[in-house]
Amino acid sequence: MDEQIIENLKLVQRRIDKACEKNNRDSSEVRLLLATKTVEAERIAMALQQGYRLIAENKVQEVKSKYEVLKNIDHEAHFIGHLQSNKIKDLLKCGVSCIQSLDRFDLAEKLNQRLAAMDRKMDVFIQVNTSNEESKFGAHPDDALDLVRKVAALENLQIKGLMTIGLFSAETEKVRQCFKLLKNIQQQVLQENIPGVEMKELSMGMSGDLETAIEEGATIVRVGTAIFGQRIYPDSYYWNEGIK
Ligand SMILES: *Cc1c(COP(=O)(O)O)cnc(C)c1O
Repeated sequence: MDEQIIENLKLVQRRIDKACEKNNRDSSEVRLLLATKTVEAERIAMALQQGYRLIAENKVQEVKSKYEVLKNIDHEAHFIGHLQSNKIKDLLKCGVSCIQSLDRFDLAEKLNQRLAAMDRKMDVFIQVNTSNEESKFGAHPDDALDLVRKVAALENLQIKGLMTIGLFSAETEKVRQCFKLLKNIQQQVLQENIPGVEMKELSMGMSGDLETAIEEGATIVRVGTAIFGQRIYPDSYYWNEGIK
């Protein structure tokens, strides 16, 4: 089982390197984020020992339950799931340095308030729903720029980029349109030159579509299944809670 993780990490890294090479990008421009939902802390630790250090969870409960094991291992923890405002307080206790899934202003305000009270700042990405599916979270593409402007005014949040979960489809060109849209929004934001907003990061691409995402400019690819194996829960459990 553990050897499998090591082997899988090598395979995924090779896919990233190859995609970079094909697109004249340096491999160092694309960071591999380990998407660790449902993975036990000990197996995550195993992957961290292979030299990877960026990990992310989707649920606050899982961040909390794995924190004790992981806190003594050097790593960087992001959050990539739907965040409920009543969980912010818990999340801020668990060493998470960036929330990639910020998709609504009321959440941003509450987060900002809580951070201000702690005299802390936090990195955020704006999550955009580029596939236009009701079943996925994220700001509507037409609203993303406005959300960036509003979040930029909140002193304790530092916008670093954008995140999206593209369409799940075997049709690469349809998936590519999602990533192109995210890149396009990044360019729109950059043109506005909004004070305090950095837009270097594009978090897009997962186990099935990381090559396409790298072609379209991803700086972070988020990979779970290709490293840790199939999950027993369907992704809908993580992606559309509350939407029936
Ligand atoms: C689970 C998850 C991933 C990784 O998906 P895989 O297909 O398992 O690689 C990436 N991003 C988010 C937001 C996720 O929830």
